[in-house]
Amino acid sequence: MFSACLSPNSNFVATPVKLLQTKMAGSMTYTPFFTHGETRRGKWLITCDHATNHVPSFVNDGDLGLPAEDMARHIAYDPGAYGTARILGELLNAPVIASNFSRLVIDPNRGDDDPTLLMKLYDGTLIPANRHADTADLENRLTACYRPYHAKLAELAARDSDVIIVSVHSFTRQLRGRPPRPWEIGILFPDQERFSPHFVTTLKQEGDLCVGENEPYVGYLPGDAIDTHATKQNRPNTLIELRNDLIETAAQQQAWATRLAPLLKKARKAADL
Ligand SMILES: [Zn+2]
Repeated sequence: MFSACLSPNSNFVATPVKLLQTKMAGSMTYTPFFTHGETRRGKWLITCDHATNHVPSFVNDGDLGLPAEDMARHIAYDPGAYGTARILGELLNAPVIASNFSRLVIDPNRGDDDPTLLMKLYDGTLIPANRHADTADLENRLTACYRPYHAKLAELAARDSDVIIVSVHSFTRQLRGRPPRPWEIGILFPDQERFSPHFVTTLKQEGDLCVGENEPYVGYLPGDAIDTHATKQNRPNTLIELRNDLIETAAQQQAWATRLAPLLKKARKAADL
């Protein structure tokens, strides 16, 4: 699985991932985030902004109006990222925080005034339940999902002055109508970031990984989760994007986390942090 930059397989077909927690008993029992290993003090904080495809029951009775196949795709969450993040947390002895709402409910990796916070269209797919969402709907989702997640993330990040925030995401191999992406792993970071350049170098030294530097996306967005909790707080950070077909199974997630944990530590040493 750790092959070097090969040309992407044009026959690639995403395997549907089982839907997670599609229904909750009611909004009263709704939990907007999960934490793992809160008592760990490993000087790292692992975050997973797009961990699940869950739609809370207060949002259109828990149904965005999309077929199950769409809710199982990258448009609803980052397949494989949550499992990888949890294992990385164990290996680095670090707390993990994960959102428990689909990015299509509200995207925690956007500023609260970002126009793409509540998407009506994503990668060519119209989101029926969002089509007529108004400011009251947005406020409900901010209150029930977005703000509690960010409050807890802020609390965990503030515990140690030398924490490095590691945000785990996954990306799809191919967007509709676009060429396949060659990278296996992408590291996103803003200019002047203290840790990520060392991590990129460490990954490239492996020799067999196709590493994207601020690929497949631009490094950061003003107001996104890393900007809010790391850059603006002067905390070193990195955002890892793993190609989601490489972390579909528990064994793949274990293998990637096991490979990345020592490389993160090596890069930390190189960065003198
Ligand atoms: Zn993501």
